[in-house]
Amino acid sequence: MQVNYKSTRDNQKEYKSSYCIVSGIAEDGGLYVPTGFPHIGKPFPDLMTMDYRELAFYVMSKFLPDFSKRELKNCIAKAYDDKFSSKEIAPLVKRGPYYFLELFHGPTLAFKDMALSILPHLLKTSVKKLDIRKKIVILTATSGDTGKAALEGFSGIEGTEIIVFYPKEGVSKIQERQMVTQQGPNTHVIAIAGNFDDAQAKVKEVFADKGFRGKLALNGCIFSSANSINIGRLIPQIVYYVYAYAKLLGRGEIRGGEKINFTVPTGNFGNILAAYYAKKIGTPINKLICASNINNVLYDFINTGVYDKNRDLILTSSPSMDILVSSNLERLLYEISGNNSSIIKDLINRLNSKGRYEINKEMKKKLSSFYGGYSTEEDTLDAIRFAYDNLNYLIDTHTAVGFDVYRKYLEETKDNSKNVIVSTASPFKFPASVIEAIGRKIEAKDEITLIDKLSEISKTKVPENIKDIGKKPVLHNKVIQKEGMKQIISDILSV
Ligand SMILES: *Cc1c(COP(=O)(O)O)cnc(C)c1O
Repeated sequence: MQVNYKSTRDNQKEYKSSYCIVSGIAEDGGLYVPTGFPHIGKPFPDLMTMDYRELAFYVMSKFLPDFSKRELKNCIAKAYDDKFSSKEIAPLVKRGPYYFLELFHGPTLAFKDMALSILPHLLKTSVKKLDIRKKIVILTATSGDTGKAALEGFSGIEGTEIIVFYPKEGVSKIQERQMVTQQGPNTHVIAIAGNFDDAQAKVKEVFADKGFRGKLALNGCIFSSANSINIGRLIPQIVYYVYAYAKLLGRGEIRGGEKINFTVPTGNFGNILAAYYAKKIGTPINKLICASNINNVLYDFINTGVYDKNRDLILTSSPSMDILVSSNLERLLYEISGNNSSIIKDLINRLNSKGRYEINKEMKKKLSSFYGGYSTEEDTLDAIRFAYDNLNYLIDTHTAVGFDVYRKYLEETKDNSKNVIVSTASPFKFPASVIEAIGRKIEAKDEITLIDKLSEISKTKVPENIKDIGKKPVLHNKVIQKEGMKQIISDILSV
């Protein structure tokens, strides 16, 4: 079976994967989705012996049939190399009875590196394949981690320009510092006075603006996206779910065919959607536990079938999950509606006009493989302390949301299937909350100095990639109103 892609809002036209990677979002505003799901094709005992790169090639080649073997292998080799501090790339660790899939060993200490270290290479390859002789402009809104991971991935990549917008008050000091110290002549970082949803909505609007795109094209530029709406980000994320399953099997923790659960700290619904796709291709998965922080729109949605963003966005200690409009949910809606693009258009129209929609009964039934839970600020900090005291394991705030929700799930359902908690960031990225959680006093105001303090308290080494962050010069310092986003893009590109 050859996989192509369609827009969630138009199931007539089909596109090749390389085309979708370059364009990011469909012209009608929909998201690209596979026309079908290939089966994983090999029994897990055969996958068990593959290392991360081999497995990445095996899984990704099914979704990127227009890439040659050589092209894809080349992209993978460039992405998953020694910029990851762990040879395993995505180590699966067991602490007490709990399994954690650590996805934070890349250059920016968050799971976004898993996809954003390869996206630039997929994109560059796609541009070459399609013979596009234009500069690719990556336009991205970030809730903190995507921005830095995208900047790191695209910095210095020939033929690209990257512009990142972040909410001035909506990211942590360390996340901000990581971004504003970014080097590379093709990198641009701009703070906006607003929250993540404002930034994301505006980026989507600029993308959909035909006039503006036309003007860019005349000047030899085209837009693309590094947000998780790009299938070039989604596909690499499927790999680690298959990998985690193969690891459990290889270590004799599960029997062949035994179904497991994954708990995923969720914001834009990208990571958990990749888990759902892994399930669709035949990974034995039972429940996908969707963990939200107090911005619990998805918890409500999974439990009631009503998606309602009419509420205030609350800034939490897990900023990368402070999101009210989870873009990738549209892809799940497409699947559970039986690929019905007119239903999707209707739901999205309601979301845009009323901020709310309700799915029908049949769709709701198909949500049964998901469990939705959420963690309050207090619960999140308690979970960090619990892990530290009882498992001697330091986790970050996002992972803690997952850990807390998993423990609530266990308590509520008594489902003792094996479960893997997806560990999305290093505790060193959020030291203030982590130190507070484990009951130590914070003297310093500046979070950056707390990195060393956390290292001292926990007797763990500071990850190499964040060590000198306090010493790097600030290279980006623009703050604008969201209304000015289009203008600043024009200025940067001189169009
Ligand atoms: C982005 C992010 C999330 C949320 O992932 P989504 O794919 O947006 O659901 C969770 N944790 C961390 C640390 C992140 O950076």
